[in-house]
Amino acid sequence: MNNYSKSTRNTVKRSAKRGYYDKETVYQILDAGYICHVGFTIDGQPYVIPQAYGREGDTIYLHGAVGNRMLKQLEKGIPVCVTVTHTDGIVLARSAMHHSFNYRSAVLFGTAHLVPDEQKEHALFVITEQIMPGRWGEVRTPNVQELKATKVLAMEIAEASAKIRTGPPKDDEADHELPIWAGVLPLQITSGEAIPDPDLRSKLPLPNSILQVK
Ligand SMILES: Cc1cc2nc3c(=O)[nH]c(=O)nc-3n(C[C@H](O)[C@H](O)[C@H](O)COP(=O)(O)OP(=O)(O)OC[C@H]3O[C@@H](n4cnc5c(N)ncnc54)[C@H](O)[C@@H]3O)c2cc1C
Repeated sequence: MNNYSKSTRNTVKRSAKRGYYDKETVYQILDAGYICHVGFTIDGQPYVIPQAYGREGDTIYLHGAVGNRMLKQLEKGIPVCVTVTHTDGIVLARSAMHHSFNYRSAVLFGTAHLVPDEQKEHALFVITEQIMPGRWGEVRTPNVQELKATKVLAMEIAEASAKIRTGPPKDDEADHELPIWAGVLPLQITSGEAIPDPDLRSKLPLPNSILQVK
């Protein structure tokens, strides 16, 4: 199935035409990021915690220390909501009220389960590659102790929506006459120059994973 089913919890209501439910659009937004916000409740108290993630198909991998409270809760199979947001621009309108963002965001619903030991390393590979493609092949892979100290969960996406805004401001027609600059200030994440660890034992060249970052 190429679309997520629509329900009361994942149907975009405001600016509904900006809502998408096809997996291709949701995957593109997820694959363009590596930080999500994980929402869950414990005893009626909502928490939203930032986390790294990796996507593979409809699975979102999360990892942390074995004692991590969030992972302990999610492992029980409680409802989880994961969001990923990219801000592509600040939309500057002539009127204060029509200011906006150009953005791409995805909201995912599902439940998570513990990744069995034999699949843990693969899940960590997926997370690492999502953050820094090619890095896994350049580094020492986890040893038995490190794997033991790490919990990995897999959240299966049961329902999802994407919401995307693009384009210029949408001012009231009458405001177009105002002598006020309007338009879009594009935003993007860029990397700076790589800073070598002072503990590097020799002058090593930059790895391919860094060289291929645009
Ligand atoms: C960009 C980013 C990526 C991260 N990736 C991971 C990851 O992949 N795996 C991982 O285990 N952790 C990650 N963290 C850290 C994560 O957000 C939590 O801090 C951590 O998972 C658990 O902390 P804890 O057990 O102390 O918190 P909990 O016991 O879950 O939280 C206790 C309280 O501490 C406070 N708190 C916890 N975390 C934060 C926070 N980040 N900022 C402000 N207050 C906080 C909140 O008030 C929370 O209610 C990431 C953080 C950031 C910002």
